[in-house]
Amino acid sequence: MNEKLQRMLELYREVSHLAMAAGLLDWDQQCYMPPGGAALRAEQLATLAKLAHERLTSPEMGQLLDELEPWAASLDPDSFEASVVRVARREYDRATRIPAELEAEFSRAASAGFAAWAEARQAGDFRIFAPKLERLVQLTIERAEALGYEERRYDALLNLFEPGSRTSQVQALFQQLKEGLVPLVHAVAERVDRVKNDFLFGGYDERKQWDFGVRLLKAIGFDFQRGRQDRSEHPFTVGFGSGDVRLTTRFQPYLGSALFGTLHEGGHGLYEQGIPPEFAGTPVGSAASFGVHESQSRLWENLVGRSRAFWRHFYPELQALFPERLGEVDLDTFYAAINRVEPSLIRVEADELTYNLHIFLRFDLELKLIEGDLKVADLPEAWRAGMRELLGRAPENDRDGVMQDVHWSQGAFGYFPSYTLGNVLSVQLFEKAKEERPDIPQEIERGEFAGLLGWMRERIHRHGGKFTGTELIVRATGREADAAPYLRYLREKYEEIYGL
Ligand code: ZN
Repeated sequence: MNEKLQRMLELYREVSHLAMAAGLLDWDQQCYMPPGGAALRAEQLATLAKLAHERLTSPEMGQLLDELEPWAASLDPDSFEASVVRVARREYDRATRIPAELEAEFSRAASAGFAAWAEARQAGDFRIFAPKLERLVQLTIERAEALGYEERRYDALLNLFEPGSRTSQVQALFQQLKEGLVPLVHAVAERVDRVKNDFLFGGYDERKQWDFGVRLLKAIGFDFQRGRQDRSEHPFTVGFGSGDVRLTTRFQPYLGSALFGTLHEGGHGLYEQGIPPEFAGTPVGSAASFGVHESQSRLWENLVGRSRAFWRHFYPELQALFPERLGEVDLDTFYAAINRVEPSLIRVEADELTYNLHIFLRFDLELKLIEGDLKVADLPEAWRAGMRELLGRAPENDRDGVMQDVHWSQGAFGYFPSYTLGNVLSVQLFEKAKEERPDIPQEIERGEFAGLLGWMRERIHRHGGKFTGTELIVRATGREADAAPYLRYLREKYEEIYGL
């Protein structure tokens, strides 16, 4: 191997190890750390972030990349060598373009923003949060300008999560989805009482839920020799190479919370476990994009986990576990209940169908904020208007409205589109997998998932971060993100459940 490449990878490995150490400290903070550890933990994380940033942006790294690029240009772009140079360049540029002073200012504003958001939520008063949010929007605009873009300022933010994607593409995709989804949601909303799910609330022993969740994770292929599961307030997944992938779950009165949350994180976990071990610590050691990551979690949560085929196999087991709650409930009633649709005010509680409408609203508003078409002071009213238009109802207070998500309070703009992109990609990938492996539906009915997982391993997981999300999806399915299969899937599913 080229000596300069070896040196670049050596430097990069240090950056990656520091990031993994920080990830482990964060995992511990969310799962086990006593509250008393919070202040020192924040300092530890800041130190690791500073060290990693210094390593990544070192003059030596810049020089190595300058020297390696002409050589890499002569290689097959799909090769490991060309890919690591390409991705390292992207990371290096991103880290060096934002002046250190702006980054420090942003980080302080994000801490202040989060504190003000928490206080404003408590008090139910947006005015407490507004000045801090205004400052964050301003600094986010400065960051976007520093990062650079070709078409629109928002592109710079979007690219932090979806490298190479354009705002105009997201807008076109969302417009097509909106036209298909809004009438469907309104039609279902008129028949919301056709489906009941009250029997899914309360009376489910947590230990049994935990065991059943582990049983499902093993069944879909999650390897507990290379992973584990713990409890946390907000479920998440973190991977430290493919040999140590950690999931978390939580329990609430609603049975579906742990059940589908576990399958969702399991989907993220399968992706992490499928990235080749030799990629660990290199620039291509993580997923292609947030949207692609989300496509894997939604695949297992929704397309597999909320399907009738899946429960044909697993429902008798679940009934046997909770005979007093589910003994008298037949499969069709259970299937309809876990797919119940109800337009609600809160994104994280939304069902599969209405979820995207929440994302359209956030995307629309943050785009306007970043492009200067909306003032922070006008945000609560814009939120209510958007909710009325999309979901036919508006929140009575800003706590259930514009202040419900934590993202903006920490300056995280550009992330929301990845959620819906993940939904769209999940169906596109699932259809292609079934087209190439027609036995997949019957396998799911038998509780066998090796065919589906094997296809995802081959087409998505094994490439790690070598390609962008768009490149990967074109390679796997022959076209870019496409709303049509997703809309078709939702229409068929919900027309059947709601008798439309
Ligand atoms: Zn997720």
